[in-house]
Order: sequence, then structure tokens, then C-alpha cells
Amino acid sequence: MTVLPNSLQARDIAYQMHPYTNARRHERIGPMVIERGEGIHVYDDQGREYIEGMAGLWSVGVGFGEKRLVEAATRQMSKLPYYHTFTHKSHEPSIALAEKLVKITPAGLDHVFFTNSGSEANDTVVKIAWYYNNALGRPNKKKFIARVGGYHGITVASGSLTGIQVNQKGFDLPLPFVRHITTPHFYRFGLPGESEQAFTDRLAKELEDVIAEEGADTIAAFIGEPVTGAGGVVVPPVGYWERVQEICRKNDILVVADEVINGFGRIGTMFASEHFNIRPDMLVLSKQITSSYQPLAAVVFSDAIYQAVADHSETLGTFGHGYTASGHPVATAVGLENLAIIEERGLVQNAATVGAHLQKALRGFANHPLVGEVRGVGLIGAVEIVKDKATKEKFDPPGKVGTYLFERAQEHGLIIRNMQDSIAFCPPMIITEKQVDEVIARFARALEDTQAWIA
Ligand code: PLP
Repeated sequence: MTVLPNSLQARDIAYQMHPYTNARRHERIGPMVIERGEGIHVYDDQGREYIEGMAGLWSVGVGFGEKRLVEAATRQMSKLPYYHTFTHKSHEPSIALAEKLVKITPAGLDHVFFTNSGSEANDTVVKIAWYYNNALGRPNKKKFIARVGGYHGITVASGSLTGIQVNQKGFDLPLPFVRHITTPHFYRFGLPGESEQAFTDRLAKELEDVIAEEGADTIAAFIGEPVTGAGGVVVPPVGYWERVQEICRKNDILVVADEVINGFGRIGTMFASEHFNIRPDMLVLSKQITSSYQPLAAVVFSDAIYQAVADHSETLGTFGHGYTASGHPVATAVGLENLAIIEERGLVQNAATVGAHLQKALRGFANHPLVGEVRGVGLIGAVEIVKDKATKEKFDPPGKVGTYLFERAQEHGLIIRNMQDSIAFCPPMIITEKQVDEVIARFARALEDTQAWIA
């Protein structure tokens, strides 16, 4: 792209540093400027239309241009644009959304703490777990077990829980309170000749060994995404979560389900915890909570945790944690309206039925010479690109072919995401079967281009 003087592109390069971007490359190629969105589509400043095959960042569940959310925000802005929830203050939207979340989340989750982002929510998880164990007189029970390839955010604590190299390299992370264990990705980490059941047994043994090595009395919690997102869309083997929970309960280790991507219907059930029989002690939610029309996240946690934390706040004089915008009235009002839309329009069911169609269509690429594995559930999926199907060998350097494929898809009017050669699909939950077919057609063209480029 030619960057014209004083264009939006030139001003962006001059003034804005971007997240998750090679800054020098950005100086050379400039940004793609998105101007507006409608339904599953977004449009750039040249008027070109794209299917947003990633719902933004796995997040715009109800699609773009949803007037009801605009109106909910405007109503709340006019009435009370801001108020906080510190020091015994509250407001109706935050109260109503907290109540709603407790009602719709899995049994045993009874209290809500609001933050602005998923990263802050996971920081809050760490701090609640630490505060809780201090309250119970267990000052050594502070470590977290997370998975390699897990994604929990980028702040100093949540970025330590994350098990992805780019989030840690150059940042002196992770902090030593985290142990990362194997991600339950059978295709990548199963041994030759090993069954899925044996793989699950091996991972359960690894968890038990790490607990034994560290000492259960030093471990506060296990955290994981039921289906991983940014780490490559990994659906765990049947029985994995049951084994993890059994081991954690036996060792008095809290189970944290990070459903920042999975939550609110993405995999075809309201929460992925329902699908995998997870009874979390803490559940982390964000993204589709407002369809990302407003920044908002929440930690929903058990009454047992709440009681210990509440007692300790009385002992210490306060629960000294919170954000200026915790429970922000506009964000929580938008969240309530967004959840009403998800329920009224049956979007969870849509994610199940149209999701089944997407999964079937993606599996149509399974025999393609560049495709190592197709995986996913509901309206989230991935196609992993490999150099050699038989040996599962990746292209060198990893990510290069995926980047080409991603750029070709964009040329064909489809925004997807490349995660080290695993190409993710996570469209808005309003998508129809016909629109899925168009996603598939555009992706097929990009894949053909990529094959020709490699040859
Ligand atoms: N947890 C999961 C599972 C996520 O996918 C993300 C973001 O993608 C986060 C946490 C962090 O959320 P945020 O980017 O809002 O800080």
C-alpha cells in the first residue's frame, strides 16, 4: 500500500503504537483503516467489504451495527454516564448485570467482580486467590498451574499465566508463581501410537507430578480455557476436564475457567463449562459479554471464596482492589442489552446449528495437502497448515505461510487470523449457513493462492 502524506495511514504511523504489531513493518506498510461495520461485515476507508471471520477479536457476537446496543448506551449516557462502585456506591446497571450473570452461569458461582478487560479479570483472579489463601491462613498456597499455549492476557500477572512465547519474550515474563504444563492438543502432543485416552491419562499424571513436586500446599489454582483460543483453538479430549478437576479437588486447588472467548454461546452452549462438565470456582468472562461494544469483563466466583474474602476485607479494613471503571454503567447497560439480544434471537442455538455447518465445511479441507488438522466446536475453529501431512512438520519459519494465507484471504474479502500457521475462524454468532458457505469459498481461494505460491 502506498502511504500518502497526511492520510489516516500516515498519521497512524506517526502517532500510534499498535498492540501485537511489528512496529517497523507497520512503518513500511501502514494500517488497514476500518471505517464501519454492519452485520458480519466491516468496510475499510476505500469502501471495500470484508467478512469479519474473527468477529473482531473473537468478540462481536451480535454482529456490527446493532442499533439496540447503541440505544442502550445512549440511554445510559444520558441518565448516568459514569459512576463508580468503590466504597459502598453502586448503580442499577451493574447490580442488574451481576444478578443476571449469577443466574445464567453454572451452579455454584454466586458473586461478581467487574473489570475492564480480560487481562485485568485474570489479574483479579490471581489477587482473589492470594487474598483468599491469606484469609484462610495459608500464606504459601499461591502458585498457579496454567498450560503452554494458554492465553489469559498480557498484564504482568495475566501475562505470566499466558503460555505463549511472544507475550513473554522481551518482557521478563513469566513471573515465577506460574508452572506451565502440556496443552491437551492430541494432534500435536500425542505420542506415536498413543490413544487419546492414554494421552489424557499422561496429562493427568503430569498434573499430579507437578503438584507433588511443588507441594499441594503451595498451589492456589489451576487455570485454563475450556477450548483454547489464541493458542490455536484446541478442543481437549473427552474426559480431560473431569480428570483435571478430580485432581485439583483432591489437592484443594481452585479451578478457574477462562471463558473470555468461550462464554455466551461461542461453542454452542451458553458457557463451555456446561459442555465440558466444569464446575469452576472462578469463571472469567469478557468479549461477548457486550459483544465488545464496550470494554467489560467479569470474574464470577463461589460463595466459599466470597465468604473468606469478605471476612478478610473486614479484618484489613477494605478489599483494596478495583478499577475506576469497575462495573461502568454504560458498559454494564450495554452488557444487559447484549445478553437480552443473545437470548431473544436464540444466538446460542444458532452457534450450535450454524456452528455444526461450519465445522463440517472446514473438515472439507482435511484432505488438502497443506492442511494438517482441522479442529473446533460450534462457531470457533482452526485449520492448521503444515509442510508435511504425514510427519506433521511445520513450515520454517513458523507463521510465514500462515501470514501469506491470511493476507490472501484479506484480498479475497475475508478477515481471519493466523496463529503460527493455525488459521482461526470465529465469526459473529448471527452468521447464517449461507454466509458460512461464502467464508469457506473465500478461504478456499486463499488456500489455492497459497499452494501456488509455495509450489
Ligand atoms: N483470556 C482469554 C481466553 C482471552 O482470549 C483474552 C483475550 O483475547 C484475555 C483473557 C485477555 O483479554 P483482554 O485482551 O481483554 O485483556
